[in-house]
Amino acid sequence: MAFIGMDVFKQIIDREAPADIVYEDDQYIVIKDINPKAKVHLLVIPKEDGLITAKDVNLDRLEVFGGLFWAAKQAAELEGIGDGYDLHMNVGESSGQIIPRVHLHVLSPDFECSL
Ligand code: 5GP
Repeated sequence: MAFIGMDVFKQIIDREAPADIVYEDDQYIVIKDINPKAKVHLLVIPKEDGLITAKDVNLDRLEVFGGLFWAAKQAAELEGIGDGYDLHMNVGESSGQIIPRVHLHVLSPDFECSL
C-alpha cells in the first residue's frame, strides 16, 4: 500500500524544512522528534533515497542499515543518554510508520515501552 504522508525528512535533509539537528554526517541526519514520546526522542534518518521502509534492506544495503546504529550511538552520546536508550522502528503503515523514509527512533529510558 502506498504511503499517504509525504517525505518531510527529505525536505529536512535538503534544508527545505526546519528541524532541530543533533548529529549529521555524509550518510545520516539525526533530528529531535517534533512530538517527543520521551524526554529525549531522536530520529535517525539515512540520506540515501529509495529506502522507504526496513523492508528495502538487501545485501547491497546492509551497510547503510547497520550505520543507523552507529549514528544512533553518536547522537545518544551527544544528548546525554549514551548509557542506555531504546531503539524502535515502525516498518510499514500497518505498524504505524507515517513518514515514507526509513528512520530509527532513539528514546531515553523513560519511554513507556510496551514490549
Ligand atoms: P513513524 O510513525 O513514521 O515511525 O514516526 C514518524 C515520527 O516523525 C513521529 O514520531 C513524528 O512525531 C515525527 N515527525 C513527523 N513530522 C515531523 C517533522 O516535520 N519534524 C520532526 N522533527 N519530526 C516529525
